[in-house]
Amino acid sequence: METAVGHEFSRSQLRQSAAVKVKLLSKGVGAIEGCPGSLSFKEENFAYDNGNWGVVPGQAIPSEVELPGGIVAKLHVRPGSPIRLVRNGEEWLVVEHRHELTPCRLLPRPRFWGLRTSRGIPAHRLVQLYGATCLNVNIFSGCEFFNVRRACLFCSVQPTQALYRAAVVRKRPEDVREACALVVRHDRVEWYLQTGGSHVDGDREFAHHVAVLRAVRQVLPWNGRVRGNVSLMPPRDLGRIEELYELGVDHPAFNLEAWPRAAFERFCPGKAAYVGFDHIVRAMDRVVALYGPGWGWCNFVAGLVSLRDMKEGFRFVAERGIVPGANVFHPDVGAAIGTTMRSPSEEYITELYLYAAELYHRHGYRPFFDQRVLRNSLANEAYLGLLG
Ligand code: SF4
Repeated sequence: METAVGHEFSRSQLRQSAAVKVKLLSKGVGAIEGCPGSLSFKEENFAYDNGNWGVVPGQAIPSEVELPGGIVAKLHVRPGSPIRLVRNGEEWLVVEHRHELTPCRLLPRPRFWGLRTSRGIPAHRLVQLYGATCLNVNIFSGCEFFNVRRACLFCSVQPTQALYRAAVVRKRPEDVREACALVVRHDRVEWYLQTGGSHVDGDREFAHHVAVLRAVRQVLPWNGRVRGNVSLMPPRDLGRIEELYELGVDHPAFNLEAWPRAAFERFCPGKAAYVGFDHIVRAMDRVVALYGPGWGWCNFVAGLVSLRDMKEGFRFVAERGIVPGANVFHPDVGAAIGTTMRSPSEEYITELYLYAAELYHRHGYRPFFDQRVLRNSLANEAYLGLLG
């Protein structure tokens, strides 16, 4: 396998990178030693959630690390973790207690971060790079479920935005289009991720997604195709999902987050009350009828429920024609469950993604994005046989 910088890596090095990513997602980092003062790396910009404990506004910390082989992992600062990120000259090391696990590098600061739209809005307040190469548009940097006291229990979007004010909350599609054009022109873009799911009125959200898609697909580099995912809650009229197909969206995603139904209703009370479990499942069926199996995605949060339940959720959606995926749970500052719940163990993470890979191969699916993008998941590494 080659990385973005063209070096070849042995299979054992890639397997070590995957194993270190498991540790980073399970334990976070207790300290970052030797963080450079100059902003030459991609720093956490707090435009969505916040899994960094003990970090104060204005403190620049790296958002992700790139492990040997181009495997990207999210960093979460968790005081008390035995894992540290230590600067070693031009290089960085991931260290557990006194044992050096692997060298790594920080992702470079995206070039578009220094640029503004014609209306003078800093582009990074409108759009982001997710992982190394995925252009990320969050259509609304807030969540109406917080306003009706029904936010997902693991989520910190609104408290993070209130504290950092890092993003334009309500974005005009024209401004988003300009910002996307700047990213495409100045940075490496291989995927697109448009997120929503945060409106109490699914029809209003759907219209907002469509308006943004109509604006941005003109400047994306795939001739009208939207190579990636649009993550949303379904509109009342499921026939409207066809509009996503016509707009060239490869992967509509309706995320259940937790399994089974009772866990979904407990962890996502807003989605349960305003959209409903059954309506989301019907929306998945509509995607499969339109696209065929293996195109629609459903994301979960790995670690909220038992491994057995999580695997059952994966199996349920995979057998329905939808690709299951999961981000590893990280305790967030300001989220309702705070630190009362920990990230899952290394064993849980490894077994879950090995099971996901088994399902992908059995059904002829591919995991979401790739290992340079999917920073909070081991789905790609498992699919490539690098895990366990
Ligand atoms: S829908 Fe849930 S996960 Fe999404 S932004 Fe709102 S509270 Fe967070």
